[in-house]
Amino acid sequence: MGVPLFDTKTPLAPLREEIVRRIGEVVEDGRYILGPNVEAFEDEFAAYCGAEHAVGVANGTDALTIAMRAMGVGPGDEVVVPSFTFYASAEAIPPTGARPVFCDVDPDTFCATADTVRAALTPRTKAVIAVHLFGNVAPVKEIEALGVPVLEDAAQAAGSTCEGGRPGALGAAATFSFFPSKNLGCFGDGGAIATNDEQIAQRARMLRFHGSRDKVTYEQIGCNSRLDELQAAILRVQLPHLDGWADGRRAAGAHYERVGLGELVALPRPAAGARPAWHLYVIRSERVVDVEAALREAGHGYKAYYRTPIHRQPAMAAWGAGVSLPATDELARTHLAIPMSPVLSPEQATEVTGAIGRALAAGSPVP
Ligand SMILES: *Cc1c(COP(=O)(O)O)cnc(C)c1O
Repeated sequence: MGVPLFDTKTPLAPLREEIVRRIGEVVEDGRYILGPNVEAFEDEFAAYCGAEHAVGVANGTDALTIAMRAMGVGPGDEVVVPSFTFYASAEAIPPTGARPVFCDVDPDTFCATADTVRAALTPRTKAVIAVHLFGNVAPVKEIEALGVPVLEDAAQAAGSTCEGGRPGALGAAATFSFFPSKNLGCFGDGGAIATNDEQIAQRARMLRFHGSRDKVTYEQIGCNSRLDELQAAILRVQLPHLDGWADGRRAAGAHYERVGLGELVALPRPAAGARPAWHLYVIRSERVVDVEAALREAGHGYKAYYRTPIHRQPAMAAWGAGVSLPATDELARTHLAIPMSPVLSPEQATEVTGAIGRALAAGSPVP
């Protein structure tokens, strides 16, 4: 049987009854916006990240825009962001009034480095968005050593760890998405901002509620962007299981290594000191077209997420035209996500690897 690209259903099955019970409690209670579950989840999630504060918002894209505004990013500023990431990482910048400046990434880790960020810095750089792509962990401290504040885009890295702790407590602030397919996913849209900075947390709280602290005086043009009480209740049931699921994702990566996938294609490399909770397991191959065809024929899941990097997207023409990012272009061309989940078995890893191996043995290698 084909191996799916991801499996969000199996890990949640044992929690189903508890989740339904908690949803029932919210309905019974009748408070749906900024109630006790959001407050409790914010405390629990901050503690999980090792951060002082967490602020629940409507999704991971709003989380980025609100966090940047809370960090003081505004018109006339520049924000450095990798081009090889989900579109929202860069899309969140123009609404602050700042302009995105694209940087390259390390092709082995998929993350920006101090060197790739340095090449994009100017006197107007106000912040750097370090994306922990696919669950790998960007070198936040090394980037901060360049003298710019770092906003972690940790949408794909819930459950990952590194020597400095966890994503969420490494930079000035961090953002998360609880989109259903993310490592920690709710049953709709959801997001959060984590930070150790009290002022950033306060500003984010104000911005998510129309720029008001007390619902009487409106100090800023904010927005309406809250994590729902129902989603918070669902996330509270799941959070204690996140580390176990992260272990499952790492074990799945280890299965692929054990059955020799690394002899066929380039495997993702954990960043120095990182223990990635692989959100997606992304391989690279010059013969990615053959790999795709083989997986399709065998009925296995696969997806090329970022074939067109952000700096080449039409909406980004004003900021992306003429930018040269060789590693990004190479990754965009050669990457492919193959099945990954907390419950991917050694047998499934063997099947997927077998299909890839047969495809690559059949054709002649690219010169
Ligand atoms: C999913 C994702 C986002 C956006 O999150 P939403 O909740 O979908 O708005 C931002 N950045 C990255 C890297 C993501 O993967």
